[in-house]
Amino acid sequence: MKLPKCQYCDENAVWRRPWDKAIVCLNHFNRAFLKRVQRTVNKYNLFDRNEVIAVGLSGGKDSVVLLETLVRLQSSRDSTIIAISIDEGIANYREDGLKFARMTAKRLGVEHYEYSFKKNFGYDLDEAFTVLKGDEVAACAYCGPFRRKSLNLAAQEVGATKLATGHNADDEAQTLLMNVLRGDIMKTLHSNPVPTYKSPGFVNRVKPFRRTSEMEIVLYANLNNLPYQEQSCPYAVDSYRGEIRDLLLELMINDPSVVFSTVMSSDKLHEMRALLPNNERDSLNKPISSCQICNSPSNSDICNSCALIKEIEKRSQLQ
Ligand code: SF4
Repeated sequence: MKLPKCQYCDENAVWRRPWDKAIVCLNHFNRAFLKRVQRTVNKYNLFDRNEVIAVGLSGGKDSVVLLETLVRLQSSRDSTIIAISIDEGIANYREDGLKFARMTAKRLGVEHYEYSFKKNFGYDLDEAFTVLKGDEVAACAYCGPFRRKSLNLAAQEVGATKLATGHNADDEAQTLLMNVLRGDIMKTLHSNPVPTYKSPGFVNRVKPFRRTSEMEIVLYANLNNLPYQEQSCPYAVDSYRGEIRDLLLELMINDPSVVFSTVMSSDKLHEMRALLPNNERDSLNKPISSCQICNSPSNSDICNSCALIKEIEKRSQLQ
């Protein structure tokens, strides 16, 4: 279908936005995209001046577009941007992503650091999966804690004051639904999109794409010819998140703005924690303690990563 002229100028349109039906050319699409990210940064106070911002760069569309966007938005500010990639050790997948990550960092002139599960934990994801797979737990369940810890360690090591990740509005809507469906709504009350948490050894994570849809990110990458890894992780098929993603995509056929309204609900839920009785609110505000094994910030005596490593070691001895 041929699109008409942009509604703001004489250029040919490249997109008709599904939620407000606006018809825009490339220039106006890019302007609206950057404006939305800047508004998100302002709304949640994501950055101060003179920050060292580490961007988690996997080489996929979200992280490639995030690095590009932050470099463009921060160019007039005093902050420094650094890229960090984590090699989980997923055969026939991660090496390709790292190629795109290296290419993107080089093109943008951004310092790039690489870390790996193998180096941090002694096991890569494929090895961990081989040992733990009898549990019928999806690989993502242990990839997540390992990656969060790796990113936090890397961000500290490079002296970052913030860690920016490419989580988009679709990811955030999926997380809320997963928490609701698992009966774990307190997790949403606990997770603050504004980076105010202070704890030794913890680098605050920020999500500048919290109000940008996955659809816009793919379009931004493709319309601006940004190369990124298109292949999906081979473990993604197992994930519960994948089922929720399909559900949301189906709802979007009739209501394209459903991910935005779900993110707004998530924000409202977080704000509602002020209404909780004092004892419940205090338990949400409990300071993060340190893992007794690795000393990393943790909500329990032993952090999830160390607990998993202990389990892998125990199973390996039995096999
Ligand atoms: Fe890790 Fe799961 Fe993402 Fe693959 S899909 S990189 S296993 S979290």
